Amino acid sequence: MGEKKPRRKRKPVKTADFFEKKGDSLERKRKSCPKCGQGFFMAKHKGRSYCGKCKYTEFESASKNEEKEKKK
Ligand SMILES: [Zn+2]
Repeated sequence: MGEKKPRRKRKPVKTADFFEKKGDSLERKRKSCPKCGQGFFMAKHKGRSYCGKCKYTEFESASKNEEKEKKK
């Protein structure tokens, strides 16, 4: 019995995902690293952004604290 393992498709990182075209101007969707400068985008994690280059981590504003104790 041949078992077929489901193939995982890798999503290629597209630079286009970092930007959104709005009219004539591009709007940045991702934050760029304040240390590495523009062009180095930070990975978005839950509650924080992370730069893979310099390991800089930026936490999202504490105003979202109300969500932390959310229980279903
Ligand atoms: Zn950086």
